[in-house]
Amino acid sequence: MTQIEIVEVSPRDGLQNEAQIVATADKVEMIRRAVAAGVKRIEVASFVDPRRVPQMADAEAVCAGVADVDAIKIGLVLNQRGAMRALATGVDELGAVVSASDGFGIANQGRSSDESVADAIAILGLAREHGRRAQVTISTAFGCPFEGEVAPERVAGIARRLAAAGPLEIALGDTIGVAAPGQIVKMMRAVQAAIPGMPIRCHFHDTRGTAVANAWAALTEGAATLDASIGGLGGCPFAPGASGNVATEDLLYALHRSGVETGVSLADVIEVDHWLGAIMARPLPAKVARVSMFPPAAH
Ligand code: MG
Repeated sequence: MTQIEIVEVSPRDGLQNEAQIVATADKVEMIRRAVAAGVKRIEVASFVDPRRVPQMADAEAVCAGVADVDAIKIGLVLNQRGAMRALATGVDELGAVVSASDGFGIANQGRSSDESVADAIAILGLAREHGRRAQVTISTAFGCPFEGEVAPERVAGIARRLAAAGPLEIALGDTIGVAAPGQIVKMMRAVQAAIPGMPIRCHFHDTRGTAVANAWAALTEGAATLDASIGGLGGCPFAPGASGNVATEDLLYALHRSGVETGVSLADVIEVDHWLGAIMARPLPAKVARVSMFPPAAH
């Protein structure tokens, strides 16, 4: 593997757990800066109930603000109502989410695992009718905050049902940051056996310090795309203890130094991190943005 695609998730997963409401103009600027750094696919907002996730209440305004931005813009949706809101904006792609476990499904979207799969299949149909791209993330694929371990066979079975509905990819989400590299290998093999040929994206959180190792395991097992969040911002309001997504700069450092290209500039992402830290009024958790560049002339 000499290259891999990065999906920047900081404007959505990065911000959704932040108590401090970020101004719409700052979200728009964040997206513009990420794209200027080389990001070509980016989650810009989620279309969920603003009473449950107040940070995302301005989803439509953010989309309007980035209408001219040249990247694939993703809107996260959990149900048909959210999908219709997203389809009324200029987003290029809908991201649906199912839960691998009933416990998280009920907490996150008020739906059992099976009900969330039915919702995602309906969302995929709506996107197709409207000529938009669409994909699905299987959340809590590596562990549930309420139910514990999730078996690869269970995730593979869900992936098979989703693949039949024609998403452009299926993502495996470590929503609460419990996965370990050996588990990634087993999961990737089980899912790929169930849905041969379907591109797989992986979404890792660094809650327990395993995210970069997990990303590397996923890459070596054939993942086509990795999610990452500038600064390591992120969490989930409905997953107790979930902390930041894998930091884009930490991931880029590991990938670029290993000869895997992403098309995203590490130096530019570090600058965005520093800008974002000033907006959030605190240093962000990413490691690579806190130290000197190595080698000194790296980009
Ligand atoms: Mg997440």
